Amino acid sequence: MPSSFEIAVFDGDGIGPEITSPTLRILQQLSRDSSSYDLDFNRLPAGANLYASTGESLPEASLEGARKADAILLSAMGMPSIRKPDGTEISPQLDLRNELDLFAGVRPVRISPGQRTPLKLDGGQSVDFVLVRESTEGLFYSRGTGEVGPDEARETLLITRKTSEKLFRFAFDLARQRQAAGRGEGRVTCVDKANVFRSFAFFREIFDGEAKRYPELQSDHAYVDATALWMVEKPWIFDVMVTENMFGDILSDLGAGLMGGLGLAPSADIGDDHAVFQPCHGSAPDIVGQGVANPFAMILSAAMMLDWLGQRHDQAAMVSDGNRLRDAVYAVIADGQMTTRDLGGNSSTEEAAGAVMEKLEEG
Ligand code: NAD
Repeated sequence: MPSSFEIAVFDGDGIGPEITSPTLRILQQLSRDSSSYDLDFNRLPAGANLYASTGESLPEASLEGARKADAILLSAMGMPSIRKPDGTEISPQLDLRNELDLFAGVRPVRISPGQRTPLKLDGGQSVDFVLVRESTEGLFYSRGTGEVGPDEARETLLITRKTSEKLFRFAFDLARQRQAAGRGEGRVTCVDKANVFRSFAFFREIFDGEAKRYPELQSDHAYVDATALWMVEKPWIFDVMVTENMFGDILSDLGAGLMGGLGLAPSADIGDDHAVFQPCHGSAPDIVGQGVANPFAMILSAAMMLDWLGQRHDQAAMVSDGNRLRDAVYAVIADGQMTTRDLGGNSSTEEAAGAVMEKLEEG
């Protein structure tokens, strides 16, 4: 009997539904071909359009559906034209991080052959690192509660020992796993601003404490401003980097830029009991309805979901399918024939996703 897993699916706003449907078709095919696991999708409403029509962006029933699922797959939410009375946008993806305590935001940055990158990699350097972004505290902690007066505004940054310890252990465990898989040298870099802020000196001190638990791995520090420079000048020096929420938010888009754009940047937000998998990009209102959205970041996020579920439930077939799916996407990119406009091609969303399916079938 195959093991059955329930996946909560948020189609979201804008291009969300356009990239969700081919991704689910691929996952369905993988699950149909597998004798060891079954995926059952539970579509849940949330997002800006729902907020515009009902006043709710993440209904309680959708949150409950996400809570009881084995994993959560989310496309993108938000529309710049739909705002709350305080002028900010709805953001159920951030609400889910807080509600489900998804403290570790995992943002892989990898440049594979054929990938368009603004970097000159003529020395054969290989760019393959992971940014781990704390996702429940930091400067995002005061989201929605910042004080705004007529002449000044304040937001508070929060760093706690409890979450930082869990975050750093997650980063060291990831570096260990990558080293075992032959990727990375087993090094974690703490990215902070400890030269200026006490809160970051505290963050760094906790990092150093956790590093002592992993004597077989290397650890070092970098200031966030220098990190931005080095990500452009010599990104191959990084293995796993771990940082505060706001710094991670900004650096992960820089990472996406190195990979040739947001259309290739997947992500996972992982906690002790739940995880959300979603592309780094937003709802791309400028291209909605044209059928040209790049589905690869969403498909790569689905591959990360298979990795996570497989490891968590000891399902080797799922881990293997996660790897096959990722390889299929990178094979399509290497061919360069069936990519979307943002990657320099002229394929539609459906054609690009279809090419991934074909690669999977070719084995
Ligand atoms: P965006 O990521 O939606 O778009 C930025 C640019 O990248 C646009 O030119 C867009 O066309 C392009 N792009 C993004 N994804 C693409 C894809 N898959 N294929 C091809 N091109 C793609 O960022 P934005 O315009 O700043 O935000 C739009 C909306 O999305 C806003 O409402 C924002 O709040 C929301 N948003 C949501 C998330 C999320 O759900 N995690 C993340 C970021 C932004």
